[in-house]
Amino acid sequence: MPVTQDSPGAAQSYATDVVVVGGGIAGLSAAISAREAGAGVILVEKAPREHRGGNTRFADAQMRFPHEADEFGVRDYTVEAMYSDLMRISRGRANADLIRTLCENARGTAEWLTAMGLEWEAGYPHTAGYRRSPKAGGAGLVDLLFRRLDGMGGVVSYETGATDLIVSPERRIVGVRCASPEGVVDIVARGGVILACGGFEANVQMRVQHLGRFADSLILRGTRYNTGEGLMMAIAAGAQPAGQWGDYHSAVLDARSPRIECGVTALYNYQMGIFVDRSGRRFIDEGEDYRDHTYVKFSKQIVEQADGDAWCVFDQQAYQREEFARAWRPTGPPFQADSLKELAQLMDVPAEDFMETVSAFNAAVQPGEYDLDRLDGKGTRGITPAKSNWALPLDQPPYVAIPVTGGITFTFGGLRCDTTARVIDTRGKVMEGLYAAGEPMGEIFYYNYPGASSVIRGAVFGRIAGRDAASHC
Ligand SMILES: Cc1cc2nc3c(=O)[nH]c(=O)nc-3n(C[C@H](O)[C@H](O)[C@H](O)COP(=O)(O)OP(=O)(O)OC[C@H]3O[C@@H](n4cnc5c(N)ncnc54)[C@H](O)[C@@H]3O)c2cc1C
Repeated sequence: MPVTQDSPGAAQSYATDVVVVGGGIAGLSAAISAREAGAGVILVEKAPREHRGGNTRFADAQMRFPHEADEFGVRDYTVEAMYSDLMRISRGRANADLIRTLCENARGTAEWLTAMGLEWEAGYPHTAGYRRSPKAGGAGLVDLLFRRLDGMGGVVSYETGATDLIVSPERRIVGVRCASPEGVVDIVARGGVILACGGFEANVQMRVQHLGRFADSLILRGTRYNTGEGLMMAIAAGAQPAGQWGDYHSAVLDARSPRIECGVTALYNYQMGIFVDRSGRRFIDEGEDYRDHTYVKFSKQIVEQADGDAWCVFDQQAYQREEFARAWRPTGPPFQADSLKELAQLMDVPAEDFMETVSAFNAAVQPGEYDLDRLDGKGTRGITPAKSNWALPLDQPPYVAIPVTGGITFTFGGLRCDTTARVIDTRGKVMEGLYAAGEPMGEIFYYNYPGASSVIRGAVFGRIAGRDAASHC
């Protein structure tokens, strides 16, 4: 429950201008931009120092933003193209104002990160060509930003988990109560509180409650600390829940990944092969769209249609490609065999059915130019499901199979916010002094996910929130 200012119970009380809850990309961007605007900042982080950085630390942290063609293979990508991709992939349900703000500020924010010393390299191959990757990944990105914040005099308090918002008699949010090694600590902030403390992906009870029974067993890709307190404390104080609370981000994972904090163990090369389930049958159009626009959806299909237990199968035409290895960080060796029958035995799927699947697939492949960098239309005909692009027969042994499953990265449900990241209450009014940035902001993603857009969303709205909160001091 929210506590009121001066309510008893805190062992210590501190005052600052802006308090930021959570030290991932959104929280760090918020804290740095508030400091740039001259505000005093305390960032509270629930994790100990060695686990800091949230989901951002586990990510490659690739970012899409409007850009001219460049040496990294980034193609011309306009604000309008990004806007239309994000709206299309949400089936038109994303909040158009928030998406426009994100797209219009993405490039400037990427340049802001560059000016702080972020170095870039090319993103994954065979995306739509607009993404770039921080050279040192998400871990390097958060370390850079923590150093920057430290150098600017921002205070970071580790092992300090926010538990409640502090509300003034006028119903302004004026601080947070935290559980820390010092005991209960109140931090009062004149400019406001910025919630940047992730979704509820690491909270098994909330997952089952909002996503469904199956969700208790998903592999957690990122931090164990995103357990939904930010959302719960805001809602308890009157914030309006918004967005798709029943859906989440995931990826097609190597099924041998560790159960929590597995990091980047996703297969990003499945479009070069086929998926089969435990009965040896295909169940997905692997070439439906660019990998960036299908991996979240396919991961959920593997969970829902194949009980989270499937295989991705390739032949040497795929396996020998230089980019195959770049798009998969193995957690174990691939299963390999000289014949499809032997491979089926290794996979423990019915050999006859599996061989029939592959031979029907091979026979259905249509001629055409194979080009992984575009939707090449080289598909199949006469089989269900079709493979719409990048269909090559699997006929060059040894054959390779990798076990795959689904996982959870972050949740889509969040808080209603305006374009300055201010939280809106259940009456539709701005909650003075309360902001949400990054994963706790709702109405950005629905059903599926446009690759490389969560880190940039955290940076954009964190930066906006920090600046706005500082302006109230
Ligand atoms: C393996 C993996 C790969 C990914 N790859 C990409 C990619 O390439 N591109 C992309 O755009 N996205 C990617 N993502 C998603 C993206 O990394 C995250 O959605 C994004 O970084 C979230 O940023 P954030 O600041 O909102 O949250 P986080 O980075 O998760 O930070 C939230 C912080 O809040 C802290 N916290 C939680 N509760 C409390 C509390 N009560 N009090 C105080 N602190 C609290 C947590 O400890 C954490 O440090 C990936 C994620 C994973 C796990």
